[in-house]
Amino acid sequence: MAAHPDDPHGFHRRGVLFVLSSPSGAGKSTIARKLLAADDDLDMSVSYTTRTIRPGEVDGVDYHFTDTDTFKAMVEDREFLEWAHVFDQRYGTPKAPVDAMLRSGRDVLFDIDWQGAQQLFQLMGGDVVRVFILPPSMKILHERLTNRGTDSAEVIDRRMARANAEVSHWDGYDYVLVNDDVEECFDCVHTILKAERLKRSRQTGLIGFIRGLNK
Ligand code: 5GP
Repeated sequence: MAAHPDDPHGFHRRGVLFVLSSPSGAGKSTIARKLLAADDDLDMSVSYTTRTIRPGEVDGVDYHFTDTDTFKAMVEDREFLEWAHVFDQRYGTPKAPVDAMLRSGRDVLFDIDWQGAQQLFQLMGGDVVRVFILPPSMKILHERLTNRGTDSAEVIDRRMARANAEVSHWDGYDYVLVNDDVEECFDCVHTILKAERLKRSRQTGLIGFIRGLNK
């Protein structure tokens, strides 16, 4: 629970834990990037992963790239809020930076899969906003993965198989959107974030404000 530095009314509100999941290629990374650029109150949770770095990725920005032994030691030391196996690799959300962001009144964006969304939801007693982004069709998803040019045909086949599995978990989310048009989809996701911030249950400082109004 923290004061929100930019709040003109000086309200205190609980930060929003905002989870964005989708099969890879459905446009989630683009939408996450646009959200972070457009919204001053939102920070990204940077995950740890044991997978290898891809061209264009930056260690510490896209992920903290690490080895399996270090990752396992972090699990032992309870340094993750959640972690999961994805594509035979380990991915996890470090606890300390998320705590720090929430303490300083920030909202936090998580780009994690359905397993992570589920674990975070349980850990936070349901106080998580879960958004799932669907591709317009599996055919278009396949085209997007192929046009990206970063993966072999075999990797694309595996991603498609995983995409089907991922989509089957759509009912574990609060909001489900189809990414037909990236601008439109981004607008919807941003609207959801802004509306969630205004939920009465999150505005813990509202009581004092309303008492002041009634004086
Ligand atoms: P990629 O390797 O393409 O960056 O990510 C593969 C999948 O892992 C994506 O669905 C992404 O959302 C998920 N992922 C990334 N970081 C985490 C994490 O910390 N925890 C979980 N559970 N999934 C993650």
